[in-house]
Amino acid sequence: MSLSEKIFNAGVVGAGGAGFPAYVKAKSKVEFVLANGAECEPLIHKDYELMLHFPKEISKGFELLIESTSAKKGYFGIKEKNTKAISAIGQHLNGKTELTKLGDFYPSGDEFELVYAATGRLIPPAGIPLDIGCVVNNVETLYNIALAEKNNPVTKKFICAAGAVKNPSSFFVPVGTSFKDVFEFAGGSKVKDYGVFVGGVMMGKLTFDLEEVVTKTTAGLIVLPNDHYLIKRKNQPEQNWHRIGKSACDQCSYCTEFCPRYLLGYQEPHKVMRSLGFTKTGSAVWNQMADLCCSCGLCTLYACPEDLYPKEACDKAKTEMREAGIKFGQQKPVKVHPIKDGRRVPLKQLIMKLKLQDYDVEAPFNSKNIPVGKVKIPLQQHIGKPARAIVKAGEVVEAGQLIGKISDNELGANFHSSINGKVTRVTEKFILIEA
Ligand code: SF4
Ligand code: SF4
Repeated sequence: MSLSEKIFNAGVVGAGGAGFPAYVKAKSKVEFVLANGAECEPLIHKDYELMLHFPKEISKGFELLIESTSAKKGYFGIKEKNTKAISAIGQHLNGKTELTKLGDFYPSGDEFELVYAATGRLIPPAGIPLDIGCVVNNVETLYNIALAEKNNPVTKKFICAAGAVKNPSSFFVPVGTSFKDVFEFAGGSKVKDYGVFVGGVMMGKLTFDLEEVVTKTTAGLIVLPNDHYLIKRKNQPEQNWHRIGKSACDQCSYCTEFCPRYLLGYQEPHKVMRSLGFTKTGSAVWNQMADLCCSCGLCTLYACPEDLYPKEACDKAKTEMREAGIKFGQQKPVKVHPIKDGRRVPLKQLIMKLKLQDYDVEAPFNSKNIPVGKVKIPLQQHIGKPARAIVKAGEVVEAGQLIGKISDNELGANFHSSINGKVTRVTEKFILIEA
């Protein structure tokens, strides 16, 4: 069986982003394979801990992918400050691979940034790394690829619990574990009323629902008290973001000046904000410039002097353009801005601006097993089609057993039970299993 078939069977999806099914990348033929160990979301340190404790598996997955794609070279992107991880990973890399040491800036982990830093190539506007002969995988995805090669499916997720929890730490949890169980394992919250940023404060979403569950793409859960600046900033009706922007944006263009995609030669977010002035907020007419935004959040949370929401305007524009079938065709050639290196945002400075200094601590690996009484496994945790349940309520299942299946000709991912137990509920959206 080929590596891509094993990855397909194991249900591996990108563990560091939107959850793109990993078998597709393993099937392609490219020049370069890139490992993304940049990890730049404030307070999240799980990739660092994974590289420190599982360098052999990550390097194996990297090697397997280089082989299956017939790549001539691999680049391992990792921050220069993470010397222990560099030395752990460095011991396992072979002659076909090179370390790409990155500065401690946000967002060094954006794949457009990483591909440019490693290869000097620029991904075409609205393109993907494959367009210029590259594939990029997060380090946890590579870890899962190494396990898939030995026919082990994805049943666990490596996550970081950080912020106002008693023991900030990184650990494996069964896919489908509730946030409540995760926080109990991390010693509980230090504050009474709090919200949770799922996936990070810059790019993640805010929730107050502790019954939500960890999926194959959940990188970190950051607890912050309800009166924290970031919770107040995010916890507003969506319409307000755009109404305020319509009346208050003075087109100073700071959002563009700091935008990493603009500095690489792509879009200008202040033009997306400008479109607010000409439309009713919430209307489907948005500036197509948004199509090249990576949703890093720098414009909203770092650059804008008026605390407006250009990232959210870009997000909304992208969604509505997708629904309307509009694609942006950038006319000007992509050319890196001469000031790019001088305008990068140091992570420490970003953390200060976000008022997160008090939570900026390590999140060491905890190897203990988290006690979990039940899991709720969503049938769509990835880009593509949802899987179909192949078990019924009342069935007894074992950890690793296939419970949700995707057809061979569909883009998607299989799902496996993450614990031993009994299926108690099956819907089109999820499968509930109790130990
Ligand atoms: S930085 Fe803020 S005020 Fe300036 S153009 Fe961008 S959204 Fe408008
Ligand atoms: S979120 Fe803002 S800063 Fe980031 S890429 Fe999009 S427009 Fe640029």
